[in-house]
Amino acid sequence: MIFLITGGAGFIGSAVIRELINNTTHSVINLDKLTYAGNLQSLESVSNSDRYIFEKVDICDTKEVERVFETHKPDIVMHLAAESHVDRSIDDADDFIQTNIVGTYILLEKAKEYFLRLDDDKKDIFRFHHISTDEVYGDLYGTDDLFTERTPYSPSSPYSASKASSDHLVRAWQRTYNFPTLITNCSNNYGPFHFPEKLIPLVILNALDGKSLPIYGKGNQIRDWLFVEDHARALIKVATQGNIGETYNIGGHNEKKNIEVVETICSILDRKVPKDIPYKDLITFVKDRPGHDIRYAIDASKIAKDLDWIPEESFESGLEKTVDWYLNNKEWWSSVLDGSYQRERLGQI
Ligand code: NAD
Repeated sequence: MIFLITGGAGFIGSAVIRELINNTTHSVINLDKLTYAGNLQSLESVSNSDRYIFEKVDICDTKEVERVFETHKPDIVMHLAAESHVDRSIDDADDFIQTNIVGTYILLEKAKEYFLRLDDDKKDIFRFHHISTDEVYGDLYGTDDLFTERTPYSPSSPYSASKASSDHLVRAWQRTYNFPTLITNCSNNYGPFHFPEKLIPLVILNALDGKSLPIYGKGNQIRDWLFVEDHARALIKVATQGNIGETYNIGGHNEKKNIEVVETICSILDRKVPKDIPYKDLITFVKDRPGHDIRYAIDASKIAKDLDWIPEESFESGLEKTVDWYLNNKEWWSSVLDGSYQRERLGQI
């Protein structure tokens, strides 16, 4: 089958493409605008495959999106292109509204028009899989509840509100036009090729540089962490075996406070790259982010039961692999840091 992956040069999209090229026989069209977060170096190991094509396209460009559908005739669309960093959305929400809401609308419309022109056999196979976040559900502070697929939406940040909007559009296109969609809502990902503005790579790289590790508030925010390659495997299962119109929550069953995550990274680094002081001495506490949700936690029992997916990595094994990857791939992250992003802003945790 031919997969059209939007946002394939990003953190999760590139993991999906590596998984598709390395471990399946499917072909991939990678449609990406290459914003500051897109990096084709993350695809160097697969970009020579004759099953891989790159299209530098903005999902907000109606004509170009239409051309990509007509040229490549995909069977499955996996839509990951998005502005994804909460802090940036608080600074300026404009790109979030454009890409996450308007861009999703344009992609949906062009995909629907293409779908309606397909013959019946191709129509039976076609799926539009929208990749979303658990942040649309808001905050679980003060309860032991987990987010299920029926949890009402209550987004807190411009980022999560824009993702919630796009989820609503996708559901409406399914309900109104009988368009074959799937939605997944996933918890925080971590792993190789993660842009160093996000918690885990930022801590690893700041610590290796002997820089401070600034933590929002007291670091008591709880997130449910999933290794990115487990997420990629889950997404491919949903795209190929999920039931039309369904939503699947994806999570790692790893609820950790931010401070625990940072301390665990520090102790892995103490073991692997010892310095004269313990890395945790670099931790500092800074004023909390506005509207910061306290706890997210996913109930991933539906995807386990219906599609037989569970994560392969524990938090400990995944974090160990992640630290090893950053230690062994200085070339990748040095070139990212030499570019648009220098860790001088949005460097809080
Ligand atoms: P990312 O920021 O690493 O990558 C986003 C990619 O989209 C980049 O390659 C960027 O160039 C591309 N892009 C941005 N705007 C575009 C546009 N207008 N047209 C075409 N391409 C564009 O993001 P990520 O962490 O890989 O997240 C991928 C998806 O998964 C997002 O939709 C995000 O909301 C969702 N998600 C992320 C997490 C997480 O922990 N990272 C968790 C759950 C869900």
